[in-house]
Amino acid sequence: MNSKRPTLDCQEAARRFHELLDNELTPDVEAAVRQHLEDCADCMAVFEFEEAFKRFVALRARSTEAPADLKQRILGQLDISSAAHDE
Ligand SMILES: [Zn+2]
Repeated sequence: MNSKRPTLDCQEAARRFHELLDNELTPDVEAAVRQHLEDCADCMAVFEFEEAFKRFVALRARSTEAPADLKQRILGQLDISSAAHDE
């Protein structure tokens, strides 16, 4: 058997993004998620979006609430066009 570190599938990785951003993962799980991000451009794009969104909201949260369409706008800026395309 060729045993590298066990890799996560995309669903499993995506489930960990928020914990990773909050530094709530064990080192082993964090390594596995980061490994997946290196191997998977799709998940990397999603993760970078989540990270940017979290940072943006954290900054904004002090003064004003994030508008409902904020995610859409950030998605547009990051040019992740796969998710939303209504109107
Ligand atoms: Zn993936």
